[in-house]
Amino acid sequence: MNGPRKLFVKSFGCQMNVYDSRRMADTLAPEGYVETATAEGADLVILNTCHIREKAAEKVYSELGRVRRLKEAAAAEGRQLVVAVAGCMAQAEGEEIIRRATMVDLVFGPQSYHRLPELLARAKRNGTAVDTEFPADDKFNHLAAPDPIAIRARGVSAFVTVQEGCDKFCTFCVVPYTRGAEFSRPVAKILAEIEHLAEAGVREVTLIGQNVNAYHGEGPEGGPCSLARLLERVAQIDGIERLRYTTSHPRDMEDDLIAAHRDLPQLMPQLHLPVQSGSDRILAAMNRRHTRADYLDIVRRLRDARPDLALTSDFIVGFPGETESDFAATLSLVNEIGLSGAFSFKYSPRPGTPGADMDDQIDEATKSERLQRLQQVIERDQAAFYRSCLGRTFDVLFERPGRHNGQLTGRSPYLQPVQVDAPLRLIGGIATVIITEVGSNSLFGTLTQANAQYPSSESALLPAGA
Ligand code: SAM
Ligand code: SF4
Repeated sequence: MNGPRKLFVKSFGCQMNVYDSRRMADTLAPEGYVETATAEGADLVILNTCHIREKAAEKVYSELGRVRRLKEAAAAEGRQLVVAVAGCMAQAEGEEIIRRATMVDLVFGPQSYHRLPELLARAKRNGTAVDTEFPADDKFNHLAAPDPIAIRARGVSAFVTVQEGCDKFCTFCVVPYTRGAEFSRPVAKILAEIEHLAEAGVREVTLIGQNVNAYHGEGPEGGPCSLARLLERVAQIDGIERLRYTTSHPRDMEDDLIAAHRDLPQLMPQLHLPVQSGSDRILAAMNRRHTRADYLDIVRRLRDARPDLALTSDFIVGFPGETESDFAATLSLVNEIGLSGAFSFKYSPRPGTPGADMDDQIDEATKSERLQRLQQVIERDQAAFYRSCLGRTFDVLFERPGRHNGQLTGRSPYLQPVQVDAPLRLIGGIATVIITEVGSNSLFGTLTQANAQYPSSESALLPAGA
């Protein structure tokens, strides 16, 4: 084969998939594959899928229709376009995907992507290949480290998977079936990966996992290490100035993790802590293993530890058996907490989960109506939070050139995009900014006087061509 082959990976769903997609590209780089930004002209297209709600799976089939047309056009030009479906939907549906979409060459689950070169060879030999095993060996031991140029292209902020899978078995959720049992990576491996990222200019790391605060990987002394202790170790890495973690389960919000929000200045004052419902009856039916009072107690302790903490959450409306008064309890919980934002979803029955077989499924119209009412309250609180940022001074981590000439886009400690007039050399640096204007989803600000001759950080991550 002459010249590099073009790879296009499209991620659906959560941040775990974004991380996995990057590692797939890293695994294929030594095979001569170079990532491209569009599917047009690619030699290999991978759709890294999500199965969490029915809508997520529908999106993939409609994308496959578009890719089929590209494959036909490539064949007409005498080129071969290989199509792969990866991720949680691949794990759940396996060969069924090839039956429904016959142009798919390769199907592989989230535990198999380190074997991609071998799977591609198998698909070439046999026409198709399917791999949805949960292998006994740890895929993380086999993944190629990203090239520093690839790290730079991906920016100053990186996700790092530290934990995968889930043993909680919430009755609505497919994750324990698609991602398998809970697994934590050893501390030494995670630190080595983050040191490598920091050397290439990464300044902010988000530790990710389906249930990240259940983390209990092997520590330096051999015993299990908690997420709080892991965060402490990561905070000591030169160059890492900001830390986050997601997604957490309330049940695993241990005292040492709450204390880390008080003690670790690198840990940003923002936490995503899904609650799902405000009704104890529904929380029990969901097998969430916490009550409304437990959740409120955790929020109180977190805010005692870190008074400026902003909280976001996830909600499901219309879980089987949810009455108007259960839903009213969810609305009252939102009112009681004061969130800075939230994701909210209509319950989607997933095949194979206990919720799908429960009596009292709620009709679509009721789900839609409740979702709309919930979103109004969430939007009201999010707008209030954004308004409260006006006039405040934030440390902003600059990520890339902004919308207009002379502008940069950065992130506030609360992950809000901030547009600021600032020189390109500040990309990869943190500077203090006064917020002068507030939009519905972004902030605008000016560098403070103290930053006027910001000399300290030569940009580590100028984008290519800047
Ligand atoms: N591990 C996290 C937790 O403990 O809440 C959440 C993981 S899940 C990928 C992200 C969100 O999707 C959940 O918090 C939940 O709100 C939503 N979700 C999961 N299954 C769902 C379903 N069957 N229908 C609707 N929403 C669902
Ligand atoms: Fe799914 Fe999260 Fe519950 Fe695990 S804890 S089953 S990932 S919702």
